[in-house]
Amino acid sequence: MTKLGLNKIPLLLWVIGVLIISASIYIETSTPIETMGLYWTVNIILVALFSYFGGLFSGLIFFMILSGIYMFIGLITTPNELTLTNSMPQVFGLLIAITLGTLGSKIRINEMQLTKLFENNDISFWTWDLDTNEYTFSEGYAAIYGVSSDVIHDNPELWREAIHPEDKAMVMDAHEQQKAGKKTTITYRFFHSNGEMRWMQDRATPQKDKNGNVTRVDGVIYDITSQVKAEQKMNQLIHYDSLTGLTNKNWFHNYLNTALISARKYSRTLAVMFIDFDNFKRVNDTLGHSAGDQLLIQIAERLKSILFENDIVSRQSGDEFLVLVEGRNLEEIEELAKDIVEKMNAPYKIDGTEIISTPSIGISINLDWEDDAEVLIKKADFAMFLAKENGKNNFQFYNDELNQKMKRKMILETYLHKAIENNELSVHYQPQFDIATFRISGAEVLLRWECEMGRIPPDEFIPIAEENGLIIPIGEWVLRQACRDIKRFKKNGLDSFPVSVNISTRQLMAPNFIDRVQTIIQEEQVDPKYVTLEITESAFLYYEDAKDNILALRNLGVGVSLDDFGIGYSSLSMIRNIEIDELKIDRSFLNDSLKNDRVRSLLEAIIQIGKKINTKVVIEGIETKEQIEMLSVHNLFGQGYYYSKPIPIDEFEKWCKNSAEKAKSF
Ligand code: C2E
Ligand code: CA
Ligand code: CA
Repeated sequence: MTKLGLNKIPLLLWVIGVLIISASIYIETSTPIETMGLYWTVNIILVALFSYFGGLFSGLIFFMILSGIYMFIGLITTPNELTLTNSMPQVFGLLIAITLGTLGSKIRINEMQLTKLFENNDISFWTWDLDTNEYTFSEGYAAIYGVSSDVIHDNPELWREAIHPEDKAMVMDAHEQQKAGKKTTITYRFFHSNGEMRWMQDRATPQKDKNGNVTRVDGVIYDITSQVKAEQKMNQLIHYDSLTGLTNKNWFHNYLNTALISARKYSRTLAVMFIDFDNFKRVNDTLGHSAGDQLLIQIAERLKSILFENDIVSRQSGDEFLVLVEGRNLEEIEELAKDIVEKMNAPYKIDGTEIISTPSIGISINLDWEDDAEVLIKKADFAMFLAKENGKNNFQFYNDELNQKMKRKMILETYLHKAIENNELSVHYQPQFDIATFRISGAEVLLRWECEMGRIPPDEFIPIAEENGLIIPIGEWVLRQACRDIKRFKKNGLDSFPVSVNISTRQLMAPNFIDRVQTIIQEEQVDPKYVTLEITESAFLYYEDAKDNILALRNLGVGVSLDDFGIGYSSLSMIRNIEIDELKIDRSFLNDSLKNDRVRSLLEAIIQIGKKINTKVVIEGIETKEQIEMLSVHNLFGQGYYYSKPIPIDEFEKWCKNSAEKAKSF
């Protein structure tokens, strides 16, 4: 039915159709008339109307009914007159009627669709007559504002009143532009009759008369609320951190770049703080991720409460936050950093547990106008690293020197990873003497590294290796090298003496350290009594953990020496509890004891203690004859530039042979 379009034909037309058909049957059968002009005219009009309302098919159907009746009656009443030529004009007329009717129907449908478009819910066309200053809107207007047509009729200014107060100026400005003949497209907020704030887009085109004067403005408004809301949601996802609700790193980055431009223009100071929270990972690991999340939320809240309203805080990632402070001087920035450190030190309560998570803050300032957001954030990040290195829970400003230092450190770290496989490591030997007899009593192995960056001092690369754990393979390499050299010394006929290898605390604490030492010594087939391991006093900070390992080492048969003795924290308490083979007194004692009697007395006392507990006492850093004379006590050992600097193995072997000769003559 729908396809045929018969349902679109008005009832009246059906009635007229049926009446005409009945009338024609009646006329044809009762009083045959010569001319059927009127009858056919009416029929043609009817077919046209059917086609107009119902389309091609309706017209055709009606056409066929009429022709069928005409032929049927004709066959009964005047069969002789019914010829094709006779019927031609009528049939032709009917076909033209169908064509015209169908065309008319198409136009009618198009128009209907257009009207519907005008009546669309969220679109309204409007016209502004500049002569009368009157606005006319199409149907959709009522739907957009959620009112009935009556309301609009009663209050033609409704659209103006519904505009959000903050956007009114913009709309009025657009009107001025339209009056001046410019097309405008604006988006503004308005209030729906239910009080909801919505977004409208308004596109207007001015119409001019022959003289070029604007007489009318035509426009279309449409409610774009759902589109704006979708965009806002996207923005939220792109620019906000879903956990803390703070803006995220992308947003901060963009904002900072804009802020930098205006700061440059008005010579304003701008500081970026990179804040990392110190034991966040531990909270996550021990209390679980949800506790970690709660902690982050609380951290974010607290940070916001410390900052001023205009300051900005964003979450960079994990436990890293970024703060942007504008228009404050250095002193104020420093005050703020202090304030943050202090307030962030207060404990957080998570699931009834008190947690402390202290901040390490790096601060960069837009002193260099060239810096963009990325550089400034990176600098703050660098400074944050320094804050961490300086014991955490503090703040540091970025400076170029620091930058160079950090860069070098990063490069060294990369090279260090390849140091072993690139054969860049070597060892030097520094002899140890019996001070009284001048007889060689041992040697210390000291690691050397030469890479693309040149010769790097151990004081620089050892801490890096300790930090990233490379000290473990590197330390094993040194031990193995020392073992091989012990065999070499023997083979080359040197007097036997123990070789001292420096061991980092991190190595000593490694779970399989004892096994590794044992394996290496066994593999290299060295008598463990020729190996002494030098452990720094700091290891004894972890006394409880280190104690067993030290005992185990002594059980392996290797000697244990306490390096840098006297400058650490707990020297005496340690030797009280663990038997040690050797005490190595830090060279600062010797340096100061010639100038300072107190230090000298202390040094003498330490030497006495060592002797009393049957430990070999070695003095480090002997540089002068004067020092030797002061120390000429029996049973004391020394090491230092006075005898020899650390030297490569070939030189060392030669040196040993010479000194053996000297000792003989001594
Ligand atoms: P350390 O264990 O205290 O080693 C002694 C340092 O003092 C050596 O510096 C040595 O060259 C230097 N020295 C020796 N005699 C004198 C002297 O008379 N005057 C002065 N001013 N200095 C003297 P070096 O070789 O630069 O090593 C520095 C530190 O690097 C070592 O201090 C040690 O802690 C560490 N280190 C060196 N090699 C290794 C290693 O294989 N493993 C580990 N873990 N650390 C090592
Ligand atoms: Ca040492
Ligand atoms: Ca030392």
